[in-house]
This record gives sequence, structure tokens and C-alpha cells, in this order.
Amino acid sequence: MVDPHELAPSYPHHGGFHDDWTAREKPAPVDPPAADRVVDPDDPGEIPELEADVDLPPAGYGAARDRYDRFLADGIETYAETRDDMRAAVERPVGAVSRMSPYLAAGMVGIRELWADATDRYEATGGDARRSVGKYRYELSWREHNYHLLAHNPTLVSRNYRDLPNRIDWRNDPAELAAWKRGETGYPLVDAGMAQLDREGYIHNRPRQVVASFLTKHLLVDWQTGARHFAEQLVDHDPASNAGNWQWIASTGTDAVDVRIFDPVAQMDKYDPDAVYVTEYVPELRGVDPEKIVAWPTLSAAERQSLAPTYPHPVVDRDDAYERAQRTFERALGKR
Ligand SMILES: Cc1cc2nc3c(=O)[nH]c(=O)nc-3n(C[C@H](O)[C@H](O)[C@H](O)COP(=O)(O)OP(=O)(O)OC[C@H]3O[C@@H](n4cnc5c(N)ncnc54)[C@H](O)[C@@H]3O)c2cc1C
Repeated sequence: MVDPHELAPSYPHHGGFHDDWTAREKPAPVDPPAADRVVDPDDPGEIPELEADVDLPPAGYGAARDRYDRFLADGIETYAETRDDMRAAVERPVGAVSRMSPYLAAGMVGIRELWADATDRYEATGGDARRSVGKYRYELSWREHNYHLLAHNPTLVSRNYRDLPNRIDWRNDPAELAAWKRGETGYPLVDAGMAQLDREGYIHNRPRQVVASFLTKHLLVDWQTGARHFAEQLVDHDPASNAGNWQWIASTGTDAVDVRIFDPVAQMDKYDPDAVYVTEYVPELRGVDPEKIVAWPTLSAAERQSLAPTYPHPVVDRDDAYERAQRTFERALGKR
């Protein structure tokens, strides 16, 4: 990795960091260690039994390499089209995105190796394929940006990165936090994301942003609480990327937009309109018309009751919670 201190300590936009970082020559991947020095990286031998209540991905460098090879063969050249498509996320979990994050986070494969292979492909392709590979490299550079931020700001994991003139009036309602953790908020895309976390220790990036925004904006629970929960649950937990992304979502980090609030209804309408992802993880909604699932928080209580009696009603009103978040952050920013 490039020494983060060689680059400017902060960038107002990720694009600036990406351009500067990409332009630097990268160290080559390290050679595999001599066989007599460590365990064979393709055959790590006995791995201790872990108590895990999620479906863990296969471990080791060999598994990481296989997964990346699958993605390079069928995925990276269409990544720009599939990375936010929640149907593809269900039908082709490795391919629509790479799912390399657990391997990177656990150090089973190095970023230099991923970057070098992606760069070879970038240079060998053109047109839409090249655009997709470029997008993948752009995402890898987000990881580096977060490492860079943490290296310059060790308190990234605990304190607001951004200096706001006023306190944020977090509500931190325990019952609402518990509903979010259980995936019972009555917002289908949020609940599907939290159910994926519970089942796999992983959430696809699109719903990951939506669940984090919902917690910090619609429910006004502080981002440190959300980040702590992720740290305990994610198989790809990475202190830099977790804190950097939570802060970005909570509008206390590096986002160039002053206050960004994801609308969970509009997000589902755009990225999971057929409810393929939502019904994969929220069985109570199977068989319900996808349009009704998208609109769930806006339906009347009677209609919800008749469509899916066991699925929760929304914990907060969509419009009231949105406007309350807007007001709260404007006060924190000194705009009210
Ligand atoms: C609130 C929140 C918390 C997050 N916490 C983590 C975390 O603890 N660990 C983690 O690895 N990622 C985290 N992310 C970033 C992102 O969601 C995951 O890296 C991504 O979903 C992993 O899936 P993938 O490997 O299939 O990604 P792909 O889409 O295939 O991307 C390839 C790689 O690029 C990197 N990457 C992609 N997006 C980001 C991003 N926004 N920030 C940093 N790196 C990125 C990852 O290393 C990823 O493996 C978080 C995002 C949010 C919104």
C-alpha cells in the first residue's frame, strides 16, 4: 500500500483521492512465502472449529483466489451494471459484486494482488468492459481512502470527523434500536438488509447504506451504536471502512453533501422493484404484490394487515421521520 502520509490529509471528494492515489505507482504483490517458512497457503491445514451462527465463507488464500478468479471470469466486466441491482445480488451473489470483503478484512488475500489483476484487466479491455473494471477499481480505492482517513485521524472510529457547530440531538430510543437490530422496522429494504446480516454476517453495499441511513436519520440513533453492532456482526468488519462509511452516511464524515438522507421507499423502488432481494430475506412478505411491498410504509394499517398480517407496521412515519432528521441535522449545522 502507498504510504497514506504522502497524500493530502483530507479530500473534499472521493474522486480527488481516487485520482491522486491511482496515479501513484503501487508496490507489486508480495511473493508467496517459501513453503518451509509457513503453512502452505493453498492448504492451511487444520483450521480450528469456530462457533458461528452465520454461514461463513470458505477460509484461506485458496478460497479467496478462487472467488476472485470467478469474479474476473464473469463479473468484473459488467460490474457497473450489476453492482446496485438487487435481483442480480440474489441470483449471482459472486458476480454481481465480488464478495471479496471478508477475505480482504481477514488478510486472506492482499489488496495489492486484487489491484494488480484489476489493473491488468483495465489495460487489456475497452468500451463498457473497461468502464466496469474502472468502477471496480474505484470501489477498491474507497477502501484505501478510508485507511488514509484513519491513518490521519485515529479518532475516526470514535468521534465525529467533521466539526459541527452544534450537537446532534440523537434520540437513541432503545425500542426502535432493538427493532432495527431484529429487522422489524416495517421498512422492507431495511429489514431485508438486517436479515441478511443476521444470516450471512454480510450486507450488500446498497442495503448497507440504507440500513445505516435509516438508523442515523429516520431513527436518530448515533452512528457509533450502529458501527458497534456492525463490528460485532460483520464477517468483513474492517475498522477503517466501517467507521469511514458510518460517518459518511451519518453526515459527520467526508460526504460533500451537507445532509444526505436515503429514502428507504425510493431506494427499494429503484434497486429492488420486483422485491427479489426483500422476499429472499423477509419470508413474511412472500406472495405479496411487489408494488405493495415497495409502498408498504405508506399503505393504510388496514391494508397492511390484510396483505401480510405477520409483518410489522412501520416504527416511524416515513415523512415525519424524514423531516425530523432534516431539522435535526440543520440545527447541528447551525442552519436553523
Ligand atoms: C455503514 C457501512 C459500513 C461498512 N462497513 C464495512 C466494513 O466493516 N468492512 C468493509 O470491507 N466494507 C464496509 N463497508 C463498505 C461496503 O459495503 C463493502 O465493502 C462491500 O459491500 C463489500 O462487498 P463486496 O466485497 O462484494 O464489494 P464490491 O462491490 O465487490 O467491491 C470490492 C471491494 O471494494 C471495497 N469497497 C467497496 N465499497 C467500499 C466502501 N464504500 N468503502 C470501503 N471499501 C469499499 C471493498 O474492499 C470491497 O470488497 C461499509 C459500508 C457501509 C455503508
